[in-house]
Amino acid sequence: MTTTVEETPKKSLNFIEQIVENDLQEGRNGGRIQTRFPPEPNGYLHIGHVKAICMDFGIAEKYHGTCNLRFDDTNPVKEDVEYVDSITEDIKWLGFKWQNIYYASDYFQQLYDLAIRFIKEGKAYVDEQSAETIAQQKGTPTEAGTNSPYRDRPIAENLDLFERMNRGEFAEGSMVLRAKIDMAHPNMHFRDPIMYRIITSHPHHRTGYTWKVYPMYDFAHGQSDYFEGVTHSICTLEFEVHRPLYDWFLDQFVEGDYRPKQREFNRLNITYTVMSKRKMLQLVQEGLVAGWDDPRMPTVCGLRRRGYTPQAIRNFIDKIGYTKVEGMIDVSLLEYAAREDLKPKATRVSAIFEPIKLVITNYPENQTEVLQTENNPDDEQAGTRDLLFGRELYIERGDFMEEAPKDFFRLSPNGREVRLKSAYIVKATGCDKDAEGHITTVYCEYDPTTKSGTEGGNRKVKSTINWVNINDSVEAEVRVYDRLFAVEDPSASDKDFRELLNPDSLKVVQGVRVEAALAKAQPLDKFQFLKVGYFCVDPDSTAEHLIFNRTVALKDTWAKKV
Ligand code: ATP
Ligand code: MG
Repeated sequence: MTTTVEETPKKSLNFIEQIVENDLQEGRNGGRIQTRFPPEPNGYLHIGHVKAICMDFGIAEKYHGTCNLRFDDTNPVKEDVEYVDSITEDIKWLGFKWQNIYYASDYFQQLYDLAIRFIKEGKAYVDEQSAETIAQQKGTPTEAGTNSPYRDRPIAENLDLFERMNRGEFAEGSMVLRAKIDMAHPNMHFRDPIMYRIITSHPHHRTGYTWKVYPMYDFAHGQSDYFEGVTHSICTLEFEVHRPLYDWFLDQFVEGDYRPKQREFNRLNITYTVMSKRKMLQLVQEGLVAGWDDPRMPTVCGLRRRGYTPQAIRNFIDKIGYTKVEGMIDVSLLEYAAREDLKPKATRVSAIFEPIKLVITNYPENQTEVLQTENNPDDEQAGTRDLLFGRELYIERGDFMEEAPKDFFRLSPNGREVRLKSAYIVKATGCDKDAEGHITTVYCEYDPTTKSGTEGGNRKVKSTINWVNINDSVEAEVRVYDRLFAVEDPSASDKDFRELLNPDSLKVVQGVRVEAALAKAQPLDKFQFLKVGYFCVDPDSTAEHLIFNRTVALKDTWAKKV
């Protein structure tokens, strides 16, 4: 007897999913799964964050747990509500839902109380040395550090000073609270890490001037995870060396079985861009890009404005996967994801970038007719639309040559026939030129028996060219975006990254003629401009001034360039 088993191929688990499944099997934390996405609201989200978002929200979704959004807002100098708002908007747009929104600042009192407890237990002290001196005393991975002269000050003195630090009695930078661990510890992060610093110069976006001391990341993150009930605190590899300290802080006060556990995966880096909020902020502040949502930026809002859909971005993240090894992903993979996603979604339309007039001399004057064209050959459901055809059209200047070489298959007065897309077969007969010899008008004759969609429409010719009607086509500005940087890894160069910008990353083309139907297009509507690429309507576009952004060319044009 034979049996056939049909199996749908099951995607293998990534290593974090394996850990989670293991934990579930072992009944860790009572079988509860809780994650968080913890952005610092000091910039806009970039596609690297999306990798973390897909992991954090994805794990919760897959294992029926919860994922919260937690703003890691412990540094009022750099943080702002503008960033909080953009982050929530972007996560929603990506299609993820958090259970709750939390803020590290929700825990300022709890963290402060915990710091007091550390002081009382002799585990923390106030250091009055400068940041430089503290850094100098850190030692090296092979040499022990030096104890601060303030390390053994009495508990009562530490308590008094810390409370006064928080009352604003001391200047910013004059004192810090440090954990008293071990200045000779082989893990440098254990060499009396700073727990609190004074910040009085900037109001906190939620707590104003209430607090004068703010917890450092290492003291805030694990504790916040614990207060919330996070089970899997997933982050990127640079935090791996912090993990023992994360555990150490928890060990000092956690009782009972529940314990959050930090896990790390590799960061996303992509060629021809920078993946750091600090660098992106510089580009924005120095006017080197048009803002955080400049379509050349690797930010979520930039990609959105560029014409990427949430699905394209998520497909890309899915494809690259999660590992423990740092690497660099080729941007062409992201561009490929855009094409694959847009192919069945984007309506095919004609846009003429360098219009030249085409007159069909044997087509009756003042006559027009309505032709049908398919909206998307990759989507049977997409249907057709009407095109107005007439005697005078625009075609691409490059689709005509007066004296053409043998391998030029488009229009030329050499007897060769060419099809006008979704219309008729035509044959060029001549052209007009201005005083400088510049071609101004091309003349042709059409064959009335060759209308697309009729029997005569089946006649095959070597090439098909795009056109729009002179009378009803509309003018548009097209912003042709390319990669922001001219080199693969701007961060690896000796030069400042700002010197490595691609001078051709934006070409603005005015006077493009597009099909009449596009006059009604709405911001972020997506199209394929036939033979050119994928484009979307810019949010600043209006019916009076249409603006399209190039998402990606049809083919990888960059490969040809370099
Ligand atoms: P940047 O280096 O751009 O300033 P960050 O790590 O400081 O980023 P956070 O707001 O602290 O930004 O990050 C929130 C979460 O996103 C963290 O868990 C972090 O590990 C993750 N994350 C940040 N950048 C990347 C990246 N390039 N790839 C994957 N995850 C990332
Ligand atoms: Mg950070």
